[in-house]
Formats: sequence, structure tokens, C-alpha cells
Amino acid sequence: DKGLQKTKENFFSKLSKAVVGKSTVDDEVLDELEEILISADVGVDTMVRIIERIEERVARDKYLNTNELNDILRDEIAALLQENNTEELQDFETPEGHKPHVIMVVGVNGVGKTTTIGKLAAQFKARDKKVVLGAADTFRAAAVDQLKLWGERVEVPVVAHGMNTDPASVAFDAVKEGVESQADVVIIDTAGRLHTKVNLMNELSKIKRVVQKFIPEAPHEVLLVLDGSTGQNAMIQANEFTKATDVTALAITKLDGTAKGGVVIGISDQFKIPVKYIGVGEKVEDLQVFNKHDFVDSLFK
Ligand code: GDP
Repeated sequence: DKGLQKTKENFFSKLSKAVVGKSTVDDEVLDELEEILISADVGVDTMVRIIERIEERVARDKYLNTNELNDILRDEIAALLQENNTEELQDFETPEGHKPHVIMVVGVNGVGKTTTIGKLAAQFKARDKKVVLGAADTFRAAAVDQLKLWGERVEVPVVAHGMNTDPASVAFDAVKEGVESQADVVIIDTAGRLHTKVNLMNELSKIKRVVQKFIPEAPHEVLLVLDGSTGQNAMIQANEFTKATDVTALAITKLDGTAKGGVVIGISDQFKIPVKYIGVGEKVEDLQVFNKHDFVDSLFK
């Protein structure tokens, strides 16, 4: 996978070097492995968890052949990644019975939220899904304009009000439009101001309440967008947002330009929330449905 090239180089190449000329996994190899995991930004807790598992194996089998290290690491990393097991979404399909399927998108400015929404809209549209977008990030004119641009580009309607209007009323109108036009998916962009946590919480709950007037079980998905290239910052944001609202899925963007893709492992492990999408570039097709086995494979190739 081209998008994960830098993470892969950072990870696998270093790992290969660490075991050169060694037949067994000794303390030196484990130290190197620690450093590799940290520099790939899996985070300290997750790094410790992985190292402990390897140490257990070394203790149990008395020694561990370096040839086996790859396989064990692969298994351990796969075990820490949450399975993205929503069948329908494997190919940007919408779940049966949700008409419309309402996705509320959260995340701080600059992480790639608008771009991810545009790419999602395009991917759904390409599968003949009818999409409505809601520009409920009403605090930034740029956010609304950018979403409108995506709407034009992808040819999907964008529900937007003026600047500084109530985000919940935009969300309300977007879902209303989705219901009335029998759309398959409604994607709602929200403002991601983290500096006032109580405000953020209130705003997100208000949007939810309003959406639930139409569809009691909506939003079906609360998708948190994180910038993978910010490594541990993404982890901090995940912490804040999961406290403010029930995040059901993650999209991790900008993995193409970074060697810190290990953050995907750390976040998935720490928050037990499935990574549903990864962004590996600026083009529409660079938003991919995350598959943990492909991800692990790409680290070890
Ligand atoms: P927002 O403020 O969260 O809505 O962020 P934007 O959607 O405006 O994205 C910020 C910048 O990141 C834009 O220049 C996007 O093209 C870029 N971007 C978003 N996702 C990706 C990605 O997966 N890879 C790369 N390389 N750039 C991305």
C-alpha cells in the first residue's frame, strides 16, 4: 500500500535491521523493538503491552527465534486492532434498514474533516447511494464554503444556513431533507472547537437530540476524524471527543505523509473503537475502508 509507505519503512526496515545477525530475541532486540514502536507512534501503553506479550513468549519458549518474531508481532498487533466488522460498510455500502443512514462527523479543524466528508459522499454516490450533506460547522465560513464545493463537485445537495446560525437547526434541516428525498445517507459536518469542552458536549448533544426528532436511533454513526500525522496529538483528541460524545467509529487521515502510522494501532487499542476509514492522500479514492489484516500486512512487507 503506497499510502502507508513511510510508516512501513519506519517499521519494517528498522525491525529487519534490529535482528540482522541475531538468531534469538534478546534484550537488545527487545530494546530496539521498543524504540521502533515508539517512533511509529503506537504510544507508550500500547508499546508496553506489545513488548510484554513478546517477553511472555520468550519466557515460555525459553528462547524466541528472530524469524518467528515477525509472525508473533503481526498476531499481537492484529489482536490489538479493533475489527471493522460492519459488513455493509466494507465497500462504502449503507446498512440495511437505515434510510437515511445518518453519520455525524466530529473532529477539530484542520484534521481533514471536510475532505473526508467529501470523499465519503463521492464514494457513496459512486455506489448509487443518494447522499445529503449538512454544513453544521457554522462557525467557519470556510468550512461551509468548502463543503458546498464538495457538494458541487460530487453533485450532492448541501444543506447550509448562514454563518453563526444554530448548528442543530442545520442538522435538523439536513435530516429532514434526507427523509423527504428518501436519501440513503445524510452526513453532518459539525464544529470541532475543543477549547470549551462543555460547549462542545452541549452542542453535539443538541445536534443529536434534534436529529432524533426525525429518526429516534440516529445518528447511526458518530465518526471522529483524526490527523494521523499528528501522532500523540490525535490520541489526545480521541480522549477529549470520546468524553464529550459516544464516538462509534474513527477515520484517520494523512497517513500518506507520515511515518507515525502506528498511531492507528495505539488509538484502536486505547479506545476500543474501530477505525473505519483511513485517508492516504487527497484524491477521492484515497479514502479507504480500513481492514486490519491489510494494514498489518502492509507494515510487514
Ligand atoms: P478540516 O478543517 O478538518 O475540515 O480539514 P480539511 O478537510 O480542510 O483538510 C485540511 C487539509 O488536509 C486539506 O489540504 C486536505 O486536502 C488535506 N487532507 C485531508 N485528508 C488528507 C489525507 O488523507 N492525505 C493528505 N495528504 N492530505 C489530506
